[in-house]
Amino acid sequence: MNRGELNDRHGWSDEEARLRRSICEIGKLCYSKNFIVGADGNISARMNDGTILITPAGAMKGFLSPEHLAHVDMQGQPVDDGPRASSETGIHLVSYQERPEMRAVLHCHPPHAVAMTVAGIDMQLPVIPEIIVTIGGIPTTPFATPGTPELPESIRDVIRCSDTLVMQNHGSVTIGANLLDAFKKLDMLEHTARILWLAHTAKGGLEPLPEDAVRKLLETRSMLGVSTTNTLENRCGLRNQV
Ligand SMILES: [Zn+2]
Repeated sequence: MNRGELNDRHGWSDEEARLRRSICEIGKLCYSKNFIVGADGNISARMNDGTILITPAGAMKGFLSPEHLAHVDMQGQPVDDGPRASSETGIHLVSYQERPEMRAVLHCHPPHAVAMTVAGIDMQLPVIPEIIVTIGGIPTTPFATPGTPELPESIRDVIRCSDTLVMQNHGSVTIGANLLDAFKKLDMLEHTARILWLAHTAKGGLEPLPEDAVRKLLETRSMLGVSTTNTLENRCGLRNQV
């Protein structure tokens, strides 16, 4: 069956079919990079009509096909008779509510980033120049019980000001203008956590860059044309101000 026939059979628009395929591809990438294992994590994309395509409850996200995805409205209610949406749909709804300009949300369990929260190491510390200039820092949100409304509410204040965060003892949330953008931030988040973890293990602590060096790096943002949300610049929603 070719793509056109598949779209007709399911009643998908070109946009819906494209996003369904992209979510499956990002699921494979997250799985192959060990950002998720088993049935962990969830991935969503918001369509032009404001409805959301999201990975289904209980599925292994590295092995999905386009027809496996759930389709919900901004209240999390199903808009078709397809699979049931992830139990963590609330994380996605809160992210889209607070950041209407964003079109994709990824929730994963990247091991180094989660380990940093378990060990109590703050990734908001300004250490890596590229991260200081782009996402600015990686805030940690307080522990909340997965599968309850506590969890989405625990990220609301921070997701308003940051495209990346880690939930205490749990996992990451990254948001983007599209799925690849959200994946890029997840990749950067886990890579940063890995570097900081290695440095912490080797030295027994982390030394932030001096305030002056951080200020100079932030000043290069306008020169480089970088205007993305930056938590070292906006300094909002954070528990531990640097
Ligand atoms: Zn999770």
